[in-house]
Amino acid sequence: MEVPDQIVCVDCGQSAHRLTYPPEEGWEIGDYVAYRCSGCNDRWDLVVCEEDAGEASTNSFAAEARAILESRRDAQSES
Ligand SMILES: [Zn+2]
Repeated sequence: MEVPDQIVCVDCGQSAHRLTYPPEEGWEIGDYVAYRCSGCNDRWDLVVCEEDAGEASTNSFAAEARAILESRRDAQSES
């Protein structure tokens, strides 16, 4: 299974580079993959999921990052 070396930060649109090195035995479902944005310096911790095994891996990572962003916004509006 492959994960992208970089994703597009959904917060600022800059590229976010992968921090986590691939495990020796390769990525598996449930592994955490951390990305650091080169623009806003945000860190994204994404989980490898079944969808990532398909062709749409970049899309599902972007969707996951977007969900994190939205949950942060919800947390902020509550406080
Ligand atoms: Zn960013």
